[in-house]
Amino acid sequence: MGAIKAKFSAPGGVHPAYHKDLAAEQPIAEMPLPASLVISMSQHLGKPATPTVKKGDTVLRGQVIGEAAGFISAAVHAPTSGTVKLVAPVPTAAGPRATAVTIEPDGEDKWIDGMAPCPDWRQLEKKDIVEKIAAAGITGMGGAGFPTHVKVSPPPETAIDTLILNGAECEPYLTADYRLMVERAADIWEGALIIAKALEATNIYVAIEDNKPLAIAAMAEAMPEQAGAAHVVALKTEYPQGAEKQQIFAVTGREVPAGGLPLNVGIVVENVGTTLAVWDAVVNGRPLTERVTTVTGGPVAKPGNVLARLGTSSADMVEFCGGTSSPVAKIISGGPMMGFAQADMSGPTTKTTSGLLLLGPESVHAYESMPCISCGRCVGVCPMNLMPNELSQFLEAEDYETAEAYNVMDCIECGCCAFECPAHRPLVQHMRRGKAQVMLNRRKQ
Ligand code: SF4
Ligand code: SF4
Repeated sequence: MGAIKAKFSAPGGVHPAYHKDLAAEQPIAEMPLPASLVISMSQHLGKPATPTVKKGDTVLRGQVIGEAAGFISAAVHAPTSGTVKLVAPVPTAAGPRATAVTIEPDGEDKWIDGMAPCPDWRQLEKKDIVEKIAAAGITGMGGAGFPTHVKVSPPPETAIDTLILNGAECEPYLTADYRLMVERAADIWEGALIIAKALEATNIYVAIEDNKPLAIAAMAEAMPEQAGAAHVVALKTEYPQGAEKQQIFAVTGREVPAGGLPLNVGIVVENVGTTLAVWDAVVNGRPLTERVTTVTGGPVAKPGNVLARLGTSSADMVEFCGGTSSPVAKIISGGPMMGFAQADMSGPTTKTTSGLLLLGPESVHAYESMPCISCGRCVGVCPMNLMPNELSQFLEAEDYETAEAYNVMDCIECGCCAFECPAHRPLVQHMRRGKAQVMLNRRKQ
């Protein structure tokens, strides 16, 4: 099946310098087991999981070590067999402490006799698929970490006709999803069919930026003709084409209303890595215990795409990539546009760690923020049609009510406004802080 071009053009967007060439042609390399794995109970959006093991317990790979603590939560599984060394709050890659289970691997990597494989998944009921996804602890692997079983079980009165697989990977350095599409296209496609069955969606689109011709070709080849629409959609290369609402508009022309969700327009969007995890869970009966992460940036000796167990430290991943060959000035979890700075390399890999980016001193500049000069550039690039200049001034004045009325909660924290601002105003930081305060105020009410 061939690819089609996106018919619609989402508003806003920027063109940061791309550095995907550092790792794009490096095939996915499986990392050996590290000496220790630190598995956080807070790898997803929603309530942290509740640990089900204690110090001294022995565990098998795939064993539940953290139970979902509510509907918006996800189970956590042991990434290998070994001994539990610690159950305690530890610093996450982002900084705040969260309860984690530390496992010393025994080297045998023995799986638990847990979920049954189901290659004949077409016989399953919708609810069985959702249950398997929940039991496997799958969450969005593109960044947000929303529990997948919740996403694929919309309210009964909500009809979903379209599934979009998000393979845009618009962050300038990241190539993990690209490699997955090139190397695992058939499995991703089968994962898409499984999710589409759970949603009763008849249209499936795979959205990929047009700077990834090999991924477009691989996915198009993996998708046979079928009833309903099934297309690879080539998006123009522009950040943030991976953002859900922008992607939905570019692919289908449907507009998600302000404050609304994709399901309000009959659509669910899943990242390609998440889709592969669904395939692995349903077809092979394997819970989510590993992921592919791009380890890249100037100082990394051999940038690449690493298949690592959840809980692997940044330091171990960099070591696997040959260590560093020049000074490191900044460590970022994720990409440079939406990722967050890490204080050091002890932070563990989680279900949402799409990348580990090391930047040298030549790429890190300290800017002094200046007053707004009302140039309007931030307004022009905002994909959500917000007015970041005005919003940031409301938020600086702690006027959260007006900021809410001006739709600050629609901000997707993409960073386009800050990227474009000649006054180097910390616009995204203002939005993040403002959104958190509005949420707090809403809870209080
Ligand atoms: S960070 Fe928010 S305000 Fe800034 S461009 Fe992105 S969506 Fe708009
Ligand atoms: S880009 Fe910066 S200086 Fe220009 S209007 Fe926006 S906030 Fe003001």
